[in-house]
Amino acid sequence: MPISGKKVDPTVVEKDVATVRSTISGREVELPAMWNRMFEPRVLTETSAEGFEKLNALPGAESLEWCYGCGKCVPVCPVDLVGEYGPRKLHRKVQTGTDLLADPGTWLCTTCANCLRVCPKEVDMIQIMPAVREAAIQEGNVPAELQTVFESTFRYGNALGANPRRRAAWTRDSGIHVRVLADDPHPVDVLFYVEDYWSYHPRGQQAAKAFVRIMHSLGVDFAILGAEEKTIGDSQRLAGERGLFDSLVEQVSATLERYEFNRIVTPDPHAYNALIKEYPKRGHTYDVLHYTQLLAPLIPKMHWSGTIEAKVTFHDPCYLGRHNGEYDAPRKLLQAIPGLELVEMGRCKETAYCCGGGGGGMWLDSFTRDYTSERLSERRVREAVEYGADILAVCCPYEVSRFEDAAKSTGNEDLLVRDIAELIDAAMGHGE
Ligand code: SF4
Ligand code: SF4
Repeated sequence: MPISGKKVDPTVVEKDVATVRSTISGREVELPAMWNRMFEPRVLTETSAEGFEKLNALPGAESLEWCYGCGKCVPVCPVDLVGEYGPRKLHRKVQTGTDLLADPGTWLCTTCANCLRVCPKEVDMIQIMPAVREAAIQEGNVPAELQTVFESTFRYGNALGANPRRRAAWTRDSGIHVRVLADDPHPVDVLFYVEDYWSYHPRGQQAAKAFVRIMHSLGVDFAILGAEEKTIGDSQRLAGERGLFDSLVEQVSATLERYEFNRIVTPDPHAYNALIKEYPKRGHTYDVLHYTQLLAPLIPKMHWSGTIEAKVTFHDPCYLGRHNGEYDAPRKLLQAIPGLELVEMGRCKETAYCCGGGGGGMWLDSFTRDYTSERLSERRVREAVEYGADILAVCCPYEVSRFEDAAKSTGNEDLLVRDIAELIDAAMGHGE
């Protein structure tokens, strides 16, 4: 059975006669039909330590060897649900001679951390994947679409390859004045770190406009960096470009040093993750909130002028929920919206499914197509529909476009995908 490709059922070998001899009585016993189904023999004995020696030389990748094959990680792996994947399967590949540095499986993990949640041996794909990918990149094995993103990030400071001077273009028709620190550098309470998809993607821009209108109406003192903003770079790091990430850390922190602010607020769980976990390791510590964490305590100040009469389900972003433990703030906000009925999907909170965008997956949909039966975002959209949702609510800038595409490609156009900020903005009566 191939590993890390589309699911292929093993060949069933029906036995003509299936009887076994009892070692105690010597009698022959005919086995019932379910035991009569045998699969073709699998080679389990040809293993080598060579692959692990190579991995162990990569700081961070050592824990793959700790796997003892319990198999807990495979059923929780979102990629395995649409293909053949999981740490155990990667471990087996290395054991049987596959060089991960040249294997497509290296690029399928979204670093969602669902396997780490259940692994008794703490096999840590969040450390393994960046280390293996970094080495693969050095050997010249990197999917072309990812290489393009790395180059765009290096040249323009954003993954989309967009003009840095147009970072703040979305603010013009937001309906309010958005302060840019370079133009008006006096101290500010909230530095709104917009990140790439809310700055440049048309659907992200709608959420960004909604968010600044909400902050404005709540009296939050905020400003943005505008053209000076560069991506925080966490997904590039997880996709294997540690050098690029380190250089972004230096550039971003040098920009931040020029201004006085109390806290950074970002809509991007990936940026949030790096700012609270990776930037401090490199000497840069900030007070950081996800935008839902800023807004949730301000619910009593929100004035609603309308209702949203809809069944809404919420997709937990892996890097807000499972990675950083925030499950409540988005739910409190949704439950505060008049008329809205929140329904939970079976896979939610700690066990939430992944949208496929993490760890570089955002840029690898065309690559992963060859190894999966459907996109993770399509799988998630079908779940939302199965739970009867009218609206799939999100709070990660990667997700609106991913899920809207998936709703179309799965024929579920009736399912609306909305950022929580858009829903609040509409119920507060601002709207676009
Ligand atoms: S859960 Fe951990 S130990 Fe068990 S098979 Fe998966 S990686 Fe190996
Ligand atoms: S981190 Fe997520 S996608 Fe990667 S192997 Fe583990 S469960 Fe699968």
